[in-house]
Amino acid sequence: MRHKLLVGNWKMNGSLAANVILLNGLKAAALKPERDIAVCVPAPYLAQCQSELSGSRIGWGAQDVSAHDAGAYTGEISVSMLRDFGCRFVIVGHSERRIYHGENDAMVAEKVQRALANGVTPIVCLGETLAEREAGKTAMVVCRQLDAVLAASGADDILGMVLAYEPVWAIGTGRTATPQMAQEVHALLRAQLAEKNPHAAGRVHILYGGSMRPDNARELLQMPDIDGGLIGGASLNAADFLAIADAA
Ligand code: PEP
Repeated sequence: MRHKLLVGNWKMNGSLAANVILLNGLKAAALKPERDIAVCVPAPYLAQCQSELSGSRIGWGAQDVSAHDAGAYTGEISVSMLRDFGCRFVIVGHSERRIYHGENDAMVAEKVQRALANGVTPIVCLGETLAEREAGKTAMVVCRQLDAVLAASGADDILGMVLAYEPVWAIGTGRTATPQMAQEVHALLRAQLAEKNPHAAGRVHILYGGSMRPDNARELLQMPDIDGGLIGGASLNAADFLAIADAA
């Protein structure tokens, strides 16, 4: 049985003062034992998360990582730096990185490898645009994106990954995939994992992301292959984020 995993993606939001309120709100909650929650925050706030969340049940992580170990890569942040701040997770290949920063499947695969090699769990984001969905290309796109990651990985690497299916048209738009639409893609991704490692495929968490809110979370999280959520906007409010975790 896979525990539900709820991860907040703060994107480029927060301040030292606002974060204290949000993190205290999360820490004060009585989480059900079979829930795991974490927040992926802007890099400058990792130290704050480390000091506020150490010893709590809430994990933390970053929103991107360099594909390189160290050196002349101005502005980049290495996975060993993330480890210095206690990161358990790093989001890789979010559609906002693919769209605004030109990240392609090969770069995402390299970042996943770098994270895995250093013991940080990559949350690998996959998802189609609206035009791709309307052209009937959803399966082709998400399978191509996952294939690039799997081609660069060993069979056992799968156990160290979390996948997040995030239809691009649902991110930050208020439009959510129906539970059936999401389940269909999640089942497809799990079948693709099973081709590489049948044992691991049943253990990997596949999260749904895209306008998940307290009022639509329960239906989504009831689907057999939806193991949690990657939550943007609603994770900026402790009550909403916790209500989603509770709905799981
Ligand atoms: C995201 O950015 O990963 C996301 C799912 O955002 P939102 O929940 O705001 O759609």
